[in-house]
Amino acid sequence: MLQISFPTIKQCIYATLCRYYSQSKNDLSLLRNIGILAHIDAGKTTTTERMLYYSGIIRSMGEVHDGNTVTDYMDQERDRGITITSAAVTLPWKNHKINLIDTPGHIDFTMQVEQTLNILDGAVIVLDSSAGVEAQTITVWRQADRYAIPRIVYANKMDRPDASLPLCIDLLKSKFGITPLQLQIPVKDNSGRLLGLIDVITKTLLTWHGASGQKIVSSTIEENTKTWETMLRVREKLIGDIIDIDETIAHLFLNSNDGIDSIKTDELMASLRRISVTQKGVPLICGSSYKNIGVQSLMDCIVNFLPSPNERITLDIFKVFGSSMSARAFKVVNEKQKGPITFLRMYSGKLEKSQKLYNATQKKSENIGRVMIPYADDYKEVENAQAGAIIAVTGLKNTICGDFLTSSGNALKSALNKLAISNKLTQDESIQKLGVDLHVPDPVFFCSIEPPSQSYQLALENALKQLQREDPSLKVQYDEETGQTILAGMGELHLEIIGERIKTEYKIDIDLSRPQISYKEGILTTAKESHKLDLKIGSTFHSAYVIMSLLEAEPNKKLISLDNSPDNASNTSAIHLNKLNVITSSAKAALTHGPKLGCPVNNVRFILHWLELGKGTSDTVLSSAVNQCVHKLLKSAGTKLLEPIMSVEVVTDEQNSSVVLSDFGRRRGSIQDIIIRSNNRVISAHVPLAELLGYSKDLRTITSGAASFSMEFYAYQEVSSKDEAQVVKNVTGFYPC
Ligand code: GDP
Ligand code: MG
Repeated sequence: MLQISFPTIKQCIYATLCRYYSQSKNDLSLLRNIGILAHIDAGKTTTTERMLYYSGIIRSMGEVHDGNTVTDYMDQERDRGITITSAAVTLPWKNHKINLIDTPGHIDFTMQVEQTLNILDGAVIVLDSSAGVEAQTITVWRQADRYAIPRIVYANKMDRPDASLPLCIDLLKSKFGITPLQLQIPVKDNSGRLLGLIDVITKTLLTWHGASGQKIVSSTIEENTKTWETMLRVREKLIGDIIDIDETIAHLFLNSNDGIDSIKTDELMASLRRISVTQKGVPLICGSSYKNIGVQSLMDCIVNFLPSPNERITLDIFKVFGSSMSARAFKVVNEKQKGPITFLRMYSGKLEKSQKLYNATQKKSENIGRVMIPYADDYKEVENAQAGAIIAVTGLKNTICGDFLTSSGNALKSALNKLAISNKLTQDESIQKLGVDLHVPDPVFFCSIEPPSQSYQLALENALKQLQREDPSLKVQYDEETGQTILAGMGELHLEIIGERIKTEYKIDIDLSRPQISYKEGILTTAKESHKLDLKIGSTFHSAYVIMSLLEAEPNKKLISLDNSPDNASNTSAIHLNKLNVITSSAKAALTHGPKLGCPVNNVRFILHWLELGKGTSDTVLSSAVNQCVHKLLKSAGTKLLEPIMSVEVVTDEQNSSVVLSDFGRRRGSIQDIIIRSNNRVISAHVPLAELLGYSKDLRTITSGAASFSMEFYAYQEVSSKDEAQVVKNVTGFYPC
């Protein structure tokens, strides 16, 4: 058979990247670490695919509906047409390097969006311009606010007949209280077809040509036409807004006799960069990714208006590491051949292949293998990586998403000291400021998972271990009483997708039960108990005696602390670390079943007052003694039922606000705040999750589509005695007698 060897797509990609890397060296000012954030279906994946194409990384464009895009590379995503895991992609653009991180859009994957935001320097917020600002747009916008991330807005889908840039502008103003800096105007022909975009800064009309819109033609606009007048009006408004925000431009304007025409294009561009990087304003552009109109302008805006790593003021904090390496792991994927691959954002220093690292979150040292540049599900190996880089490394066996890594324990110590001194902080505050400890929200849904037969149990356990490293918001527990493995996660879809990944990626035909709300138990009062366990196993006597107290948890206090009072210190100070580990894991296991309904017990801690172990007593006997003591403690303290409460925000017009409020009343909600934002009411409430199933559909019905909402987990709260019967039914399937 005749075989002709063409360069493969991969080889072409590598060639492009190699050419690029040899040119740009390691100039941080040419780097952009960017996320694309949006409500689901706004067009993130479609836009990313175009960016890859125009930058030369791929030779042909995939489409979401054909299931062949680069960033939606997991089978799951291709089937469902949504993006689940954040994929990092590196692409060259106009002598810059853009590290683009395509984040998931569904509310259930908020944990991943948060971790990704933590490592971004800038974000593109994509809007579906026929829908404007949607529920999830509000959530991601707030998250970007929380991490102080500079952003630009891209109003996509301008080709649609119902697309409206004024709608997007109004909603951006009313929902976020910002003044969007409109840089483009869509131009349509009489039949409503999108022809191109007017660039308000250069006063030109941009049109896209060629089969994939790769050729852009810039033409002048005839003066004194309707288009010209519209352009002038938008330009005047834009420059007026810039003058209000930026002193340099205000100064130029005030010292000139030619009005706004005295301000040159490069001065405007520099001003927009200052405004955007310091988050005083948000540039707004538009386009239609699907019709290949506007994506190159978006890429120009990323380079022009979003900060490089050394312009992110909020990341200056990592300067306390000096030349030592510091980085955050923001994603772990398991590759069948390469093993676990960890994605890192480098904050300071340099990372070389085969280097030893200190995982500050887990307090463990680890060695990395290779250092690679990520390209969706593909990589290019490099010798080392510098501060600011987004890289993928092999070899890390324990590191999970969100972990903070440094070159050594000493580097961390010295950085924490510097931070504590310069900011007058305690050690704990410094640790918190660097984000060394990861906050994982409590899971609110759970289900049981069963392998097809016992012979798959080990394979299932391994699969779950790998998935947990990728996604710390997934919790896995083994229920000793029922012999079931329990998965707990952030939402119904979250658990469903984990189940499907086990089936397709790990080829285990598991059974998942219906996801249920995760109720918990909390203690009514404190308690103190002792417990003695004597056992003869074979010819050995085992004896364990413990005295413990049960209390409400306190921030920064461990699950088990030792009684250091003068009477007890002589005993507790002699407890070996490995015995303490046995006690801790046994207490944790005992807390998985509360006495009331068998729900996990939440928000408690213990004090260990006394421990006596007979010579030769096994850890199993110690573990049983602790387990029995904890059950005694729970019984005497008594428990109450707790349910997950969500923080819900509804934005609606004035007419519909009363129906939303009374509906919250029916859902056992408590109203926290009502704010008037232009013509809208922003209603914030705390509502039990159990009352929110199907809420998005119900809200649409009661307000005839005039409201949008977002929600996130708030806290576990006690179920009132009048609602308890319903909860018991939810958990057990029966009303209590
Ligand atoms: P994501 O969920 O934000 O990643 O959105 P996708 O990129 O998966 O797009 C969702 C749907 O919108 C797909 O069917 C796309 O083909 C479609 N779409 C994306 N961009 C445009 C656009 O500019 N115009 C139109 N009309 N449809 C678009
Ligand atoms: Mg997508």
